[in-house]
Order: sequence, then C-alpha cells, then structure tokens
Amino acid sequence: MSNVLREVLTANQKYAASFGDKGKLAMPPARRFAILTCMDARLDPAKFAGLAEGDAHVIRNAGGRASDDAIRSLVISYKLLGTREWFVIHHTDCGMETFNNDTIRRLLASSLETATLDSSGWRDVGRGPGSTEAEFIDWLTINVRAEAVVSDVRRIRNHPLVPGDIPIYGYIYDVRTGQLDEVAAATKEGRARQAELVR
Ligand SMILES: [Zn+2]
Repeated sequence: MSNVLREVLTANQKYAASFGDKGKLAMPPARRFAILTCMDARLDPAKFAGLAEGDAHVIRNAGGRASDDAIRSLVISYKLLGTREWFVIHHTDCGMETFNNDTIRRLLASSLETATLDSSGWRDVGRGPGSTEAEFIDWLTINVRAEAVVSDVRRIRNHPLVPGDIPIYGYIYDVRTGQLDEVAAATKEGRARQAELVR
C-alpha cells in the first residue's frame, strides 16, 4: 500500500470515529450558497470561508473557471438543491497563469510525464511518446487574473439556465495573506437582476 493511501485511510478512520450527528445532515446546503474555485492545494474553502459539513457547495477545477462542467454543477446546485448566492473565487499565483493552450499541447505531444517549470517557462523532460489529443481540449488558462474572474462571472450570469435573481460575487484569494479581495467589476457584472427585468 502506498504511503499516501495508508495516511488517507488512517486519517479517515479518525474522522469517522468522531463523526457525531453529521450523519443526519440534509442534502441541500444549509446556508444556501455555492463557491466555484480553483483546485490549488493552498486553498481550503472550508477554512477560508468558514464552512462546516452541510453548509455550502464547493465546485473546484483548475483555475476555478466557468467551464461547461462547472455550470452543470451550479445549475444542479440551485435547481435541485436550492442555493441562492454564488461566489467565483480565483487566486494569486495560479498555475493557470503560467501556460496557454499551445504550451500544454506541446508538452503533452512530447510526453505524458510531469514537465518542469524554470525561468524560461515549461519544459518537457519526459520520454515519449506523448499524445496530440490535447489539441481537442480548451484548457481555459488565465491571461489577466481580474479579467478572468469578470469573464467567468459574466458567462455564468448570461447563461440561459441561470436565473437572474442569483447574485454572483467575484473574488481573488491572496495565497500570501489568506485574504479574499473583491473584483468589483465582476461582482457588478454578477449583480442580481430585478425580478421584473428577468421576466
Ligand atoms: Zn489556481
């Protein structure tokens, strides 16, 4: 058994031993909100946003981008499970700012091993063969941080399956301080629309 596997299972036993009455939690998030954020290991939404089990939905992907699949989760989040407010939270020093579609397509075409990042950028050091399949994926990388938050909030706001009365807040989490900084232009873009305008 790998070390990681053993550690995870041991930690889980400890967690389950003091699970208490969390087994009685309802499926819909008690605080009726959802967070879309990056998978970056330095971000712990439960801690930085004060969540306990059962409180909120947390949807994560590389970059915290409003991908089709993130929108699928958000739509399920309100339509079936009743969330009424959403956050889009990107962060400083995001790995998605370090490459673009061309970069990752080139790296994966060269080999499937882990690439290295140095002062001249990403470099593939693995043995081939790689695959050209990466050509068919939009990797949703980030060029300008705040603009990516605005464009993700805008995409969700304008999506035909998203009701206008759900406010969407745009934030950037600072990995050096743990603080959430608002992207005012994103929150403005994500403002709830008046009911009469929605109809
Ligand atoms: Zn990130």
